[in-house]
Amino acid sequence: MPNDLIAGFLSRCETELSLLFEEIDGREEANFRKVMEAFEAEQIAVRHFTGTNGYGYDDIGRDALERIYARIFGKEKALVRPSIASGTHALAVMFFGLLRPGDLMLSVTGDPYDTLSSIIAPSADREEGSLADYGISYGSVSLLPDGKIDYETLRTALRDPKLRVAAMQRSRGYAWRASFSTEELNACADFIHSLRPDVIVALDNCYGEFVDPVTDVLTADIFAGSLIKNPGGGIAPTGGYLVGREDLIDRCAKRLTAPGVGSEIGSYTPGYRLFYQGIWMVPHAVAQALKCAALFSKVFASLGFEVNPDPFDDRHDIIQAVQLHSEARLVSFCKAVQSASPIDSFVSPEPWNMPGYTDKVIMAAGTFVGGSSLELSADAPIREPYTVYMQGGLTYVHGKYAAEKILASFLEEGLITEEQLKE
Ligand SMILES: *Cc1c(COP(=O)(O)O)cnc(C)c1O
Repeated sequence: MPNDLIAGFLSRCETELSLLFEEIDGREEANFRKVMEAFEAEQIAVRHFTGTNGYGYDDIGRDALERIYARIFGKEKALVRPSIASGTHALAVMFFGLLRPGDLMLSVTGDPYDTLSSIIAPSADREEGSLADYGISYGSVSLLPDGKIDYETLRTALRDPKLRVAAMQRSRGYAWRASFSTEELNACADFIHSLRPDVIVALDNCYGEFVDPVTDVLTADIFAGSLIKNPGGGIAPTGGYLVGREDLIDRCAKRLTAPGVGSEIGSYTPGYRLFYQGIWMVPHAVAQALKCAALFSKVFASLGFEVNPDPFDDRHDIIQAVQLHSEARLVSFCKAVQSASPIDSFVSPEPWNMPGYTDKVIMAAGTFVGGSSLELSADAPIREPYTVYMQGGLTYVHGKYAAEKILASFLEEGLITEEQLKE
């Protein structure tokens, strides 16, 4: 039984969120219709679930799944593969597929997500096999102080004849900024296309899928993400995807497998049911995650912490950041989320050095799919101002259960006072 004080506090937060929750339900319905249309158009049947082996020529489950993704996202072609090991891998396939020696890649939304620095590896710490290692240069246009795209600097940067790929990132990642709406991303992609029709606009779409209405098609030429985030629906066991213009997807497929075979090969013996069921569940799962994020935002804003986004801000990814201003609170937060997890609830997470990240990171993820962050999870690089990033929640009640545990730990450890919950 939750402590009465905590239960009362959470119930007041929920009441204030009720209209927002209705809005989220409305968006779920619109997104669900789009998914259903794709399933109907492709006449998905049980035979599509069948696994294959060997080369995987004529793998109908794989091919129809890729057409479903292309239809849902309104693009020409998709690569959806269990053999793509993570979001970072999908992005690496995209950038290595698109760029050639001598080319310039320009990140137009500031420096990208932490794990991409090893892919890019500008000058000093040259990573073996990075873009830099292949003679591909990198530049970035920092975001303006208000977190928006700096169009003036971008206009100048677009004059560089070596520029081949303009990269955008929708989600905040581990940065204290807003995520970008489909409208903002499209305005930027259109601006780049109008000045440089030869430049490919490539988007890191991680955490953003199905948050904005999927009916609003992205005008980026190609985008990529992870199947253990949004588009796996919490059900896909592994994998990544790329969606976009056919010629570009074909180029990336040649990088993923080999020139000459591209997307024609690739088998998967366990079968594809979980990928179909996953993408079918996404509208609902993302809606649940958005409700969890809104609850966390409301709870911590009410306690006086700085949150990003604010509870009623428009959301364009599923991440909720909270500045906790002390390592003790950050660790307590993550331990409580872990203890509220269905898997490994008895494990206590500790800060550690994770491959691909520069600072130590603490992670709470007691998930059915290892590392899945559409399932309720929290992580934080151990650095000032001790910002925790929480995301996911396949069911809203799970998020609420975790919020209860965090508040109970904070009270017990004197990290908040009873007065703060009374209001
Ligand atoms: C998670 C994430 C990635 C990397 O995905 P992994 O699956 O962790 O490799 C890249 N970019 C953004 C914005 C992300 O959120």
